[in-house]
Amino acid sequence: MSYWSDLRADAGLCSFRNRYLNKLFHNIIKYPVFILFALNFESCIVDDIAQSERHAFSLNIILSITIIIAVIVIFLIREQKIKKQYKKLERELRIRIKKIGEQEDKIVQQKQEVYSQINLSDKQDEVIHNQTIELEKSRRHLEKTVELRTRELKDAKNKAEESDRLKTAFLENMSHEIRTPMNAIMGFASLLSLTDISVQEKGKYIIRINNNCRLLLKLIDDILDMSKIQANQMVIVKKEFSIDQFLQEIYDEIVTEHKELEIKNIKLELIRNKKDKSYTVYSDPVRFRQIFLNLLRNATKYTEKGYIRFGYEPLFDSDYNNEPSMLQFYVEDTGIGIPPEKSNFIFEWFNKIEDDPSKLYRGAGLGLFISKELLHLMGGEIWFNSKLKEGSTFYFTLPYFDTTEVKSAKVRKQTSGQSIKKENYDWRKKTILIVEDEDNNVLYLNEIIKRTGALTLEARNGKQAVKLVEENPSISVVIMDLMMPEMDGYAATRRIKTIHPNLPVIAQTAYTNAREREKSLEAGCDGYISKPYNRPELLDFINTFI
Ligand code: ADP
Repeated sequence: MSYWSDLRADAGLCSFRNRYLNKLFHNIIKYPVFILFALNFESCIVDDIAQSERHAFSLNIILSITIIIAVIVIFLIREQKIKKQYKKLERELRIRIKKIGEQEDKIVQQKQEVYSQINLSDKQDEVIHNQTIELEKSRRHLEKTVELRTRELKDAKNKAEESDRLKTAFLENMSHEIRTPMNAIMGFASLLSLTDISVQEKGKYIIRINNNCRLLLKLIDDILDMSKIQANQMVIVKKEFSIDQFLQEIYDEIVTEHKELEIKNIKLELIRNKKDKSYTVYSDPVRFRQIFLNLLRNATKYTEKGYIRFGYEPLFDSDYNNEPSMLQFYVEDTGIGIPPEKSNFIFEWFNKIEDDPSKLYRGAGLGLFISKELLHLMGGEIWFNSKLKEGSTFYFTLPYFDTTEVKSAKVRKQTSGQSIKKENYDWRKKTILIVEDEDNNVLYLNEIIKRTGALTLEARNGKQAVKLVEENPSISVVIMDLMMPEMDGYAATRRIKTIHPNLPVIAQTAYTNAREREKSLEAGCDGYISKPYNRPELLDFINTFI
């Protein structure tokens, strides 16, 4: 501010000085001329003044003119000086103006810089804002991830605890479920060796041994099935079968297996469907039988009086459909019932309801879990209705496909066919080749077969079997173990089939999976029976080939 006011003051001073000097110069010029004029005028009028006076007067005039000139000169010099000063001032002014211009440029530049910096800072503000949003997002994401991880960890911990609980339950259950029948088997087997027992007592003990063996076998099958389900290796082998024929066989099996039903006066009833029509399904008969037997065995276990009814009804999508879309099976009992809050619980593995301290029910808690998983694989569902102390009805469904032809296979455990059970066969003119590496099994087979009068030959591996077949064209049937040293049953069967294509070969193995069965049939076996088998089952099966 002061700089600008100084500058203006300087400029004003200069113009004032100029005006003053001009005026002064003008007056100085103007007044002597006027004086000279006056003097001349006076000398013209006054002629009569004295000569001396005229000299004096002239001198005065000359003096005056000199003074005037001197004054003029002084003024001119002064003016020059003033002009110089003015020019100097002008120059300075210009320099200052230039400087001011430069300063102004600088200020403008600085202003621009400030503006650009303000812009920059605006941009930075935006960037910071965006980064804050991003940070907030990642914070939220992190929080969610941490939450998820925590939940996963909790789940994993719960699962670990659950699996620990299951492991303990499994071990406790297994110990109980294995030791109890083993105890009975060993106990009754030792009683058999006594000399003072009657034939009736012997028969009773043998029934007990058989029943407990069956329980053990069921337990082993259940554990194997559970492992297969866990490993996603359960295979469903579908084929056509008649439901009504199948249910009749299951009925017979339960009646022979559960003699106590008669004792307890519990009525076991197989109910015909309301359409009074026979249906054929395309499903896995082995697994179907397993599910039904699980449900019926449970019903017999948990029922003390009343009845057990089972059967099925076709379900139609609409009234216009001739063929049902589903078949709904049921097993109804008048047993102890199931509390409603346990409806999911009992379908989990190893879960049993043990609310009643007055009675301990046998079982590993696997049957319903396996049934549920099998039904999922077969396209069906399982559920139940129940009332405590009044009874339960278990339902399950299977998809129905229109099949008219029921094919029967000779494969023993794949299909039904337990109805024949003739034990006294006469095979006196027959020769049966037993191919088996396990001593106990060879002895067992020999003991069964020799009672029919048949001659037996023994081979301990595939190579020996092939040799015996080559040397003995009279062999009627071969009972072939599949897993053997040197040459296994598959290779031996292939070789035997090239020598005697029509010689029946029955595969027998302790493996129960469907693949094993298929492999043996592919190798050329004519039938398949899985261990363990009992005497009537084996004889009955051999009889279909001999
Ligand atoms: P388990 O071999 O122990 O019977 P399951 O999986 O078949 O195993 O059954 C699980 C549990 O469900 C049984 O321990 C029993 O408590 C209950 N349960 C199953 N069926 C019946 C039934 N018909 N009546 C009453 N309770 C049943």
